[in-house]
Amino acid sequence: NHAYERLAAQSRDRLTLYGMALRSEMERSRNIPLVLSSDPQVAELLLHPDEAAAAALSRRLQSLNAVLGASAVYVLGRDGTTLSASNWAEGAGSFVGQRFDFRPYFISAMAGRPGRYFALGTTSHLPGYYLATPVWRDDDIVGAVVLKMSMEELEHGWSGGGERVFVTDSHGIVFITNTPGWRFRSLAPLDPDEAAAVRDSRQYGDQTVSPLGLVAGERLVTVGGTGYVMASQPLDDSEGWTLHVLAGVNEAQARARDLGLLAVAGIGLTAFGLYFIVHRGRMQRLHTRDLERRVAERTAALQDEIVERQRAEVELKAKQDELVQAAKLAALGQMSAGMAHEINQPLTALRAYADNAVTLLGLGRAELVRDNLGEIVDLTDRMARITGQLKMFARKSSGRAEQVSVCDAVEGALALLAGRMRAEDVQLDWTPPAASLRVWGEEVRVQQVLINLFRNALDAMRDSAARRLTVAVETTAGDGVALCVRDSGPGIAAEASGQLFDPFFTTKPAGEGLGLGLSISEGIARAMGGQLTAANAPDGGAAFTLTLRRADAA
Ligand code: ADP
Repeated sequence: NHAYERLAAQSRDRLTLYGMALRSEMERSRNIPLVLSSDPQVAELLLHPDEAAAAALSRRLQSLNAVLGASAVYVLGRDGTTLSASNWAEGAGSFVGQRFDFRPYFISAMAGRPGRYFALGTTSHLPGYYLATPVWRDDDIVGAVVLKMSMEELEHGWSGGGERVFVTDSHGIVFITNTPGWRFRSLAPLDPDEAAAVRDSRQYGDQTVSPLGLVAGERLVTVGGTGYVMASQPLDDSEGWTLHVLAGVNEAQARARDLGLLAVAGIGLTAFGLYFIVHRGRMQRLHTRDLERRVAERTAALQDEIVERQRAEVELKAKQDELVQAAKLAALGQMSAGMAHEINQPLTALRAYADNAVTLLGLGRAELVRDNLGEIVDLTDRMARITGQLKMFARKSSGRAEQVSVCDAVEGALALLAGRMRAEDVQLDWTPPAASLRVWGEEVRVQQVLINLFRNALDAMRDSAARRLTVAVETTAGDGVALCVRDSGPGIAAEASGQLFDPFFTTKPAGEGLGLGLSISEGIARAMGGQLTAANAPDGGAAFTLTLRRADAA
């Protein structure tokens, strides 16, 4: 039960993360057809179609698309015929001259609404997401600009985590997925009318939609005999799409079985110990030979167990890297709400400065316009720093030791939690060391450990009257650098102190803590040739110390 609950909580975190990635992917592309629809060259071609102008625009779309990396960008005339397309040079793959008047995205655009549609291409037979924008000339719609995005890269990005991730449409048909065999399969069998409607729309070309054979049980679903924990989330602002994450339970079951076996072994040994004590008198009277035989038997059994444990340890080690990445993604998921806030703030300010600049320009106040633009530049720098940090954190470890600036690592980690610290009114006490102080490690990993420590500290101080996070750096005897993270929370509970670094040990409610943060952090510290220790500070609160090897010349 414990393992299932953990897996379910973890899947929900992953779901949030994948949802964010999908939304930002769609958001990013939405503006491109919008911008093109107000391009004078596009409107001119639609008003006065002419072969030379169409070819010139096609070439421009081609070079634009080379930068965008979309599947295609193209312009449709009033009757749905493609006049210019980025893929004009691809022979049979070219859209130029093709009619798309039957496509719902074109019909929406001609009715004056942006069109959005997922379908299998009629020319390319490749799936894609289509975004269409009407082109207005005065009060008249003269055509449409369409962007077709491939989902391949996104699907590829989903394949690292080991779960099945997919999106279903309003009929429950899987269309974006990291499991190729599941594409165009339905979660539940379609009724005949629905199946006919899907076929007639040609949305999925000539594909026949067959059911996936998903059977929902009380807490697990099974597909083809494999059990999964399922988490689903409707995607708002879409056409009835739902994102799903299915995490296989094999590993959780194996772990539960191992724990069960260990418990049985423990009970057995205890029983044997008791038996031994109670019957010691009788045992002593037993023939020495008999005793020796029994001892030999027990020793052999214990040796078998040792071999088994060693094998499990090797396996565990192999899983650790995977786990590190998974825990990091889960942490990202939990931090995402705060990050969205962090990015939204400068965005709002940007908008205000831009509005001001427009007004000031009208008034001819060039000086003030320049000030406003300067503010805009600063804000975009700040946003770039935030997203840079996030990208850096999500990156997979390279496995190479490098010289890491202590100051940069701490400040990078703090930046990722700045939003939460402000919201929770946490006072930060941080004196940066000399900028040249460096340690051996990997910046991503050092940051990952620090973020775990900071998040634990913030969690611990949630109910405290005064919230104070102290980060101190000291060089220690023998080439070490100690990074101490102290909080003003209740400190480490006496009964928890022996198990803090055990995997899956947590005192937090289900869904909040995975109990992996400290065990993974400790593993990372050791892999970098350092260590992580925990203590309670003399004046209250917990103090965690990450010690790493000093790398700069001194
Ligand atoms: P999680 O945060 O998911 O519970 P961790 O391995 O990071 O997993 O932490 C394990 C446990 O250690 C926590 O549940 C908590 O009981 C204890 N702990 C960690 N940091 C602190 C802290 N700063 N103050 C008090 N207890 C802590």
